[in-house]
Amino acid sequence: MPTIKNALVNAKNELKEISSTADLDARVLLQHCLEKDLAWVMSRADESLNQKHDECFNEYVHRRQRGEPVAYITGRKEFWSLTLAVNEKVLIPRPETEHLVERALVHLPVNERRQVVDLGTGSGAVGLAIAKERPLCEIIATDISPGALAVAAANARSLEVQNIQFAASDWFDALTGRTFDLIVCNPPYVAENDPCFQKGDLAHEPVHALRAGPDGLDALSVITALAGKHLRHNGWLVLEHGATQAEQVEQLLGKAGFEKISCHRDYAGFDRITEGCTNTQ
Ligand code: GLN
Repeated sequence: MPTIKNALVNAKNELKEISSTADLDARVLLQHCLEKDLAWVMSRADESLNQKHDECFNEYVHRRQRGEPVAYITGRKEFWSLTLAVNEKVLIPRPETEHLVERALVHLPVNERRQVVDLGTGSGAVGLAIAKERPLCEIIATDISPGALAVAAANARSLEVQNIQFAASDWFDALTGRTFDLIVCNPPYVAENDPCFQKGDLAHEPVHALRAGPDGLDALSVITALAGKHLRHNGWLVLEHGATQAEQVEQLLGKAGFEKISCHRDYAGFDRITEGCTNTQ
């Protein structure tokens, strides 16, 4: 059996064709096989793997070689301060979406009750992070996909988050007549002919969570047009969008009557979040 060090070197070589993070992928997959943290694995680099762990690691590396995202192989992904269960029914939460959470929290004072909707929650990442940070807020997290709602609800249970409820809904369809203090959403916003669908993690993720018409603005247009009806006085709509869509999203918000519109960059420096407020006078 190979040592931990050799197994990692071999895996890295096998993965470097398909992944720009081959080293990290190999370490995360091995840690998952061994059910140990990085410090444990690194401090035993010269120890041999047993047969069971060697077979498990080989299987994971082969799945990764065929393009499966690391998060779907391990079944989990870190987001905000949470470890979320994920599977192929949900988009893998991205680090840039943590900035969406940050912007939503700016408009949700600590120790005050507010009602919040997370539209298209997927794994529950955004809604759960807000619910954890603002225990007095009530969050409704919606998704059109029953498979996604099952993942999100399971995450709420395992993270023991009480102040969140889930509803099957095509954007606002199941929220007729209801109003909220804040609506947050990471919608699909990738243009349908974008070549990114052919490679990398995106090729394995649910297409309805990513693809949004010829220019990627289909969902953003619907949401900005309808959100005003579901927001209270001084309510906020906080949206994630593609790095080149800020101007168009700003226009959509302006057309829908939002005020105090502003755009915020993600940690990589891309215009990523645009938000607006209702009736500020
Ligand atoms: N940020 C994602 C990507 O391009 C897209 C997520 C989305 O459409 N909401 O990888």
